[in-house]
Amino acid sequence: MTLLSARAAALDADDPFAETAALFHKPDGVIYLDGNSLGMMPRATAERVAHTVHAEWSEGLIRSWAGACWIHLPMTVGERIAPLIGARPGEVAVGDSTSVDIFKALSAALDLQAPRTVLLVEDANFPTDGYIAEGLARHRPGVTLRRIDPERDLPASLDDDVAALLLSHVDYRTARILDMAAISAAARAAGVLTVWDLSHSTGAVPVDLHAADADFAIGCTYKYLNGGPGAPAFSWVHPRHHARMHQPLAGWFGHAAPFAFDRLYRPAEGMRRFVCGTPQILSLAALDESLKLWADVDRDALFAKSRAMTAFFVEAVEERCGRFGLALVSPRDPVRRGSHVSFDWPDGGPVMRALAERGVIGDFRAPATMRFGFAPLYLSFAEVARAVEILEAVLETRAWDAPAHRAPAEVT
Ligand SMILES: *Cc1c(COP(=O)(O)O)cnc(C)c1O
Repeated sequence: MTLLSARAAALDADDPFAETAALFHKPDGVIYLDGNSLGMMPRATAERVAHTVHAEWSEGLIRSWAGACWIHLPMTVGERIAPLIGARPGEVAVGDSTSVDIFKALSAALDLQAPRTVLLVEDANFPTDGYIAEGLARHRPGVTLRRIDPERDLPASLDDDVAALLLSHVDYRTARILDMAAISAAARAAGVLTVWDLSHSTGAVPVDLHAADADFAIGCTYKYLNGGPGAPAFSWVHPRHHARMHQPLAGWFGHAAPFAFDRLYRPAEGMRRFVCGTPQILSLAALDESLKLWADVDRDALFAKSRAMTAFFVEAVEERCGRFGLALVSPRDPVRRGSHVSFDWPDGGPVMRALAERGVIGDFRAPATMRFGFAPLYLSFAEVARAVEILEAVLETRAWDAPAHRAPAEVT
């Protein structure tokens, strides 16, 4: 046993989530450090999807909209997410993708804020957030975007023209956490609405939207919430805005009475108006099942394990691989860091591919970021230690320096 694996064994012995890993399907020979991008499948999810297909769809057919409560899934699934983000019952609607939900939230925020017309967006945010804001601005006369670095430009950029501020709570690349309460307070003082993207936060770090007095939030459910590929996203709006807010994609499932087949749109009460068209039932069923296991999770213990794991990884990589010159781009302070860790290295792409070939799956964000995610529900310290040893071997032997690892990849 190496020193590193001995340290990992000691940490695993104290892991309150040691049993939880068995609730997930773990492929043989894989150390999965990408749960921040696509979470592992809870075993119960496969059974639930099979049930939805074989019993509810095949047998129940259209009767299942009422009989299997399909019609309520966008809000009942939201009830399971609410406690994870400091939201109250009835405040979270689930459906569409994060990208689409960003569009709805920004548009609703602009409507609430007329005559203010500026959207502040984070220059280094996950690209879809900026693209969607850009698309929305193109489509709404008079609306303009200003791109900022929140750590440098806030609160100075919050002027009287700014309608809304779109930020990622945890940065997808570096994992730095923004101070949601302080930024929301500064925005509120300047009359600006905050729109928080919680994609890399939910299920990984503490989030309390009410305590932070945020205005809007959206987030992804296929990352730490393990909802499955393309699982529907969630939207939250502070109830102070519910009565006045409009969402632009006013579909029939967000109507007050979808089956009244009224000629004119009349929004449902509260967050249900954020639902657009027919909900994605197979995806919602999978997500609903994956979320059930969160009811038993001690979240403080989970966040503590996340910080312990990222700290263990940073220390181990610096100790074992420091001589290769990897540059830590994540905050060193674990409290300021989400549940992933990134190191920059010029040939990071080929390194990640050589690692994947050896069963260690992380990902790469161009131009040089090697990203490793630590989902505390199913990952052990022993796996983290083993991953670092394999990384050291790949760097030491230059196994990454092969044409197959350098070829362009469609998905990184
Ligand atoms: C993962 C992620 C998304 C995903 O958007 P999709 O519409 O699901 O593709 C958006 N924003 C951020 C910050 C993310 O991390």
